[in-house]
Amino acid sequence: MSNDRDTAAPQRLVLMNPGPVITDDRVRSALAGPDMCHREPEFSALMTRVRDKVTRVAGGDERHTSVVLTGSGTSAVEAAIGSAVPDGGGLLVLDNGHYGERFAHIAAAYGIRAHRLEHGWATPLDLAAVERALVADPALTHVGVVHQETSSGMLNDVAAVTRIAHAHGREVIVDAVSSIGAERVSLAGDGVDWLAGSANKCLEGAPGLAFVSAAKAAFEGLGTTPKRGYYLDLHRHYLAQEKAVAPAFTPGIPAYYAFDAALDLALAEGWEARHERYTALARRLRAGLEELGLEILLPPEQRAAGLTAVRIPEGIGYAELHRGLRAQGFVIYSAQERLARDFFRLSTMGRMTQADVDRFLEVLAGLLPSQN
Ligand SMILES: *Cc1c(COP(=O)(O)O)cnc(C)c1O
Repeated sequence: MSNDRDTAAPQRLVLMNPGPVITDDRVRSALAGPDMCHREPEFSALMTRVRDKVTRVAGGDERHTSVVLTGSGTSAVEAAIGSAVPDGGGLLVLDNGHYGERFAHIAAAYGIRAHRLEHGWATPLDLAAVERALVADPALTHVGVVHQETSSGMLNDVAAVTRIAHAHGREVIVDAVSSIGAERVSLAGDGVDWLAGSANKCLEGAPGLAFVSAAKAAFEGLGTTPKRGYYLDLHRHYLAQEKAVAPAFTPGIPAYYAFDAALDLALAEGWEARHERYTALARRLRAGLEELGLEILLPPEQRAAGLTAVRIPEGIGYAELHRGLRAQGFVIYSAQERLARDFFRLSTMGRMTQADVDRFLEVLAGLLPSQN
């Protein structure tokens, strides 16, 4: 992490949107790798290498594997839901924000029965209610939970949800798209059944790849359930990638090059150290925001390391704030739907530096009516 890059590359934007994140130079230059045919041995080797590394970052052991999809994070969440929930089964959706709601929307699109446990946005999960819902309805075969609810920055307790679900013989589908790489989530450690993630958030790869990690036996088991879709049928991708060692369809090869490099960096750093790095940035950012009199949405113990939702300050609109910061090299992110009127979001993911955070706070202070 060098600060001289800031001065050497004035066109560098500080991305404070929660993915795609600022990437390491090694990741970005890997995108310019050689032209390649995806049906040749060199792509098979690249794909297998990437799948193995993904399984490791997902906390898998020799019982687990991963299927890599060319698509954004939602493709992995959709593939997991559409493939794992059997006919006659159902999905208990733990909804405390935009991405929890998305579970219910995907289930509806596939004609999967869903019971939506609506908590209200930015409200911690009610584990007793989760248990009651499972007891009340034995046909809810799966539980869908978002690890980091990116609409608010709230971290949900996936391990606790998994314990409850398993105690009642149910499987858990985790949307770990915005958490994997920087928060604790583990196939072997937490017993997560289906983990959906993407390359371009806390794993610091380029956008374009997503993945589902699970037990090999679980992927094998998909062969007995009827297909709901074609392109996002996980069993099709599993058979292609695991047995034929070739992708089912043309993959985003440059994104694979970048992901291969990003996974090396993620594995070398380790999720704990990355968590600490993001936390240090977030601590600095949050202290600075509070010094400026800005209100942060969640209490400290509920916040993920990589995201901070902040109330839009008095006397300035979001659009003006965005424009003013963009002109100085910072990209901030609006909040969604019911939080959009009052809040905006700042990510501390990716190769952001403490100097970036300090300069952001300076520029922000210059834009606030209360500071001038
Ligand atoms: C970013 C994100 C997704 C996926 O969004 P895409 O636009 O498809 O990449 C899914 N879930 C969560 C929690 C996310 O933060």
